[in-house]
Amino acid sequence: MVSVTLHQLRKSFSRSGTVVNDVDLTIEDGEFFTLLGPSGCGKSTTLRMIAGFEEPDSGTIHFDDRDVTYAPANKRDVGLVFQNYALFPHMSVSRNVGFGLDVRGVQRAEASRRISDVLNQVGLTAQANARVDELSGGQQQRVALARALVFRPQLLLLDEPMSNLDAKLRLEMRGALRDLHAETGITSVYVTHDQAEALAMSTRIAVMNTAVVHQVGTPDEVYSRPLTAFAAGFLGRNNLLAATVRENDGTRAVLTLADGSALAVRTASAAPGVGFGVGSRLIATVRAENVRIAAAGEDENVVSGTVADVDFIGYSLSCELDTALGRIKVDLTGAHARPARGDTLRVVLPEDAAYCVPAED
Ligand code: ADP
Ligand code: MG
Repeated sequence: MVSVTLHQLRKSFSRSGTVVNDVDLTIEDGEFFTLLGPSGCGKSTTLRMIAGFEEPDSGTIHFDDRDVTYAPANKRDVGLVFQNYALFPHMSVSRNVGFGLDVRGVQRAEASRRISDVLNQVGLTAQANARVDELSGGQQQRVALARALVFRPQLLLLDEPMSNLDAKLRLEMRGALRDLHAETGITSVYVTHDQAEALAMSTRIAVMNTAVVHQVGTPDEVYSRPLTAFAAGFLGRNNLLAATVRENDGTRAVLTLADGSALAVRTASAAPGVGFGVGSRLIATVRAENVRIAAAGEDENVVSGTVADVDFIGYSLSCELDTALGRIKVDLTGAHARPARGDTLRVVLPEDAAYCVPAED
């Protein structure tokens, strides 16, 4: 398997401008690495340059020490899985998977051994002789995966491969991909706009927005210690509050929020580069799952508002509060009175759950 290094990778289109802007990434051998970001941020273009379908304007791509920046796609030894998996619907699963092996000079006995190995890996042994159009969407996606793996590539590239599947199948597929990666150890680059997928499957995640990488880290790092307001807001349900530092005793700072109210935070719980000097601007974040209902008489870090929306999803109750600070998201779990739309609610943004990121310029 290989490591992949992108150095100052850049791509522009005349219609769209710069869609990948000086991207630097190192994907280690054996990683399951995810490019995560909203639609249009440049994920697929980045992946297509790694695959060799798109030439960068500048920058380099290395597989280990080998410079493949301008190498043709068929010389890169890469397996690809896309959202439109373009299978041959009337052919059997085996023939779909084996298609192209003979062209590459793989002998018959070896080919059938590889096909059965790979069908076993993706859990389709029983469907080997079924026609592809007889399979479910999830099974078809596994065929596409098997077809990519049968060539024994040193790198697997997956571009939103589950976006045609329903929610339940996506969950199943997540597990199947994770198992497959654990079993094969193949270096994998996965593209998705779905943060839950990224968090559940990746060894590391690159959070992208508008052509640039905001942060690279493990799922825990990008979730718990976002570097930018974008990363903080894109992952999970977070509340972002613009603030100015009012006072600071070294470990604890009191901020002034947009409505003039105070919010206490811990100075240690902040992204690098956040300044806590009096008068500094920053963004305080408090995740919805950490917001709780205020006790009677409690008034520190308390915000009150009107319940604008309630979403009961079984294990938790998601509320949106209209407050003087704008919408505040609150996720409540455990036993509590169930708020209704129009109720007034006082909630605490706990000091020990607040995390500060730099103000956006
Ligand atoms: P993502 O995969 O993150 O949704 P893409 O990499 O597909 O984003 O696209 C990034 C931007 O580049 C989009 O604005 C898209 O319209 C534009 N783009 C992608 N491919 C082309 C192309 N061949 N010609 C012109 N613009 C393109
Ligand atoms: Mg895309």
